[in-house]
Amino acid sequence: MITVKREKISWLRKFYLLQIAGGLRLTFSHLLKNFFKPDRMNTVFYPEEKKDLPPTTRGRHRLMKREGGGPRCTACMLCATNCPAECIHILAEEVDDIHIEKRPAQFNIDLLRCVFCGLCVEACPLDAIRMDVPRTVFAGYTRESFVLDKATLMDHNNEEFVPAYNPERPVQITHGIHARP
Ligand code: SF4
Ligand code: SF4
Repeated sequence: MITVKREKISWLRKFYLLQIAGGLRLTFSHLLKNFFKPDRMNTVFYPEEKKDLPPTTRGRHRLMKREGGGPRCTACMLCATNCPAECIHILAEEVDDIHIEKRPAQFNIDLLRCVFCGLCVEACPLDAIRMDVPRTVFAGYTRESFVLDKATLMDHNNEEFVPAYNPERPVQITHGIHARP
């Protein structure tokens, strides 16, 4: 039988007294600093005050429009296929335009399943979907209220947008579809 010798631990270490004292010292130093210099506090008084979001923020989705106001999306399903959460549901319809052929009759995104990974944006060959609506907090009473439909995704009124991370990112331009404005 092997006897393992245990290391002797001092009572100071056993009761974490030094660590507790260090934690209290840090807490009180912050308390006093904030009390005497409130203008230097890092606190943001949300929602009255909002911090500027960085350009890499992934916010709520929106669907981009063509010049005529229709959706830029051609219902190619690449975003829905690449979505790891399977939360994009598109119902395609035919368009009487040989350059477009299809567009979404329905385009729904279930925000309760979305993990905001941005893969749908990356997968889209037409820059038809972006995640630049600076909303990161959502609230609702029903599951349905978290489903963004096509009309909501295309409603750009009263919205501000997070500036594109890289406006020079090459976007495939096909048949009158316009790149980033
Ligand atoms: S952000 Fe990710 S999870 Fe959300 S819809 Fe796009 S691909 Fe799906
Ligand atoms: S990848 Fe782009 S064009 Fe294709 S369905 Fe999605 S949003 Fe529409």
